[in-house]
Amino acid sequence: MRSVAGGVSAGLLLRIAPADASEKMTRAQAEYQDAPNGIYSCGLCTLFERPNACKVVEGEVSKDGWCKAFELAD
Ligand code: SF4
Repeated sequence: MRSVAGGVSAGLLLRIAPADASEKMTRAQAEYQDAPNGIYSCGLCTLFERPNACKVVEGEVSKDGWCKAFELAD
């Protein structure tokens, strides 16, 4: 019984820890830039969180910025 419980919590830790550590990319990893890419910008991206955050990139982003994770709404 004890070993089953230990196995479960170890499994949970393994699943939670990497997700927390890599939840967001750095701006460099995402190749974020402070200017739009043509007509595409954070303001049009489904991952943008007003007023100046992003669901997948760390730190502040501008609505006029852009990165390679850009995702256009359908
Ligand atoms: S373009 Fe990149 S930085 Fe901007 S909101 Fe979308 S995912 Fe975030």
